[in-house]
Amino acid sequence: MKFTKAANISAKFKRVGVVGGGQLAAMMGDAAKTLGIELVVQTPDATDPAVSVAAGAVLAAVDDVLATAQLANECDVITFENEFVDLDGLRSLEEQNVLFQPSLSSLDPLLDKYVQRCYLQGLGLPTPRFWAWDCSQDLHLDFPFVVKVRRHGYDGQGTFIVKDRESFESIRADLRGQSLLVEEFVPFDRELAVIAARSTTGEIAIYPIVETQQQNQVCRLVIAPAQISLDVKSDAEAIVRTLLNSLEAVGVFGIELFLTSDNKLLVNEIAPRTHNSGHFTIDACETSQFEQHLRAVCQLPLGNCDLKCAGAVMVNLLGYESAESDYLEKRQQLAQIPRSFVHWYGKKVSRPGRKLGHVTVLLSEEAVDRGRVQAEAIAQTVESIWNPN
Ligand code: ADP
Repeated sequence: MKFTKAANISAKFKRVGVVGGGQLAAMMGDAAKTLGIELVVQTPDATDPAVSVAAGAVLAAVDDVLATAQLANECDVITFENEFVDLDGLRSLEEQNVLFQPSLSSLDPLLDKYVQRCYLQGLGLPTPRFWAWDCSQDLHLDFPFVVKVRRHGYDGQGTFIVKDRESFESIRADLRGQSLLVEEFVPFDRELAVIAARSTTGEIAIYPIVETQQQNQVCRLVIAPAQISLDVKSDAEAIVRTLLNSLEAVGVFGIELFLTSDNKLLVNEIAPRTHNSGHFTIDACETSQFEQHLRAVCQLPLGNCDLKCAGAVMVNLLGYESAESDYLEKRQQLAQIPRSFVHWYGKKVSRPGRKLGHVTVLLSEEAVDRGRVQAEAIAQTVESIWNPN
């Protein structure tokens, strides 16, 4: 298949509005420059990561529809870096011919975790067993099981693994009054993620499938490519194609999967945007997920998803203290790791668990062959520099 390089592309849409201004929008800003596109972001604070790399900013909450109307006045197309939007409010803009990519109807079944599970079930795709719950009834499920807030959860905030009756009662008291999703706990063998893009013409491009590892429900480590059988790979790709086609998706989507010990896949979550598990693509692939997203939303041909190297490991730099620091010295030390690329999001304040940056380390064939052992060694090297405590 022939691909067009960014340098040979002339975008029809020159200004893209992005609802959200965190690190995902900031990394899209870097990709925009290679395509000759300008980004304007909608984000609450002038110190948010994407503001300094964008051509302009509308300083407002991401669910402020009037602000999105202003953004639309300045841009050819609007896209999203997060899903905490006011979909009903945005529909009035779509009726006035504002172009959203992905469209609001693609987002509609995805924003609420319970609705998303129902959508997957309707497509016949495998998911953990699930129920809607509002804390009023008792639950008679075997422990452990999982409770999730239906909207606005991220990085494991809003996901609770309920291990026993005591933790159940305390979670129930804390979450009273909220709409929740309850689901079976899946004793997965591994977690996988697929980053894929769909264009307005229905073309689909899928990146190498990765393994993700979470700690306290937050992504710690991503291994590319995942060491999986060809059958699992083709099952995962088939799930992704069904999903993206049914959603009539446009842009990059991240799909998180559980792989069980008997090689069955279950869909955990679909994110209608670029995704943490795709950060390795910046340094390790021919086209980064951020460039790919912009290509799709700007109606350009999709780029090549292939790895440029044998593999890569991505380690998140998660905050471990409440502080105001740019951690420059640590970043300089991290940059000394052979074949490493340090990405710093420029957040002004660190908090425990907050994503402050990431490091990608490219792998040789031999390192890929060493598999998870090698990935764990790299993660430990990064973490011993980042947080020696
Ligand atoms: P978020 O949307 O905040 O990222 P997720 O639903 O993806 O939350 O859950 C975060 C992590 O919690 C998952 O990556 C996985 O490790 C764990 N988890 C979530 N749901 C289940 C489940 N049903 N069974 C086992 N582990 C789960």
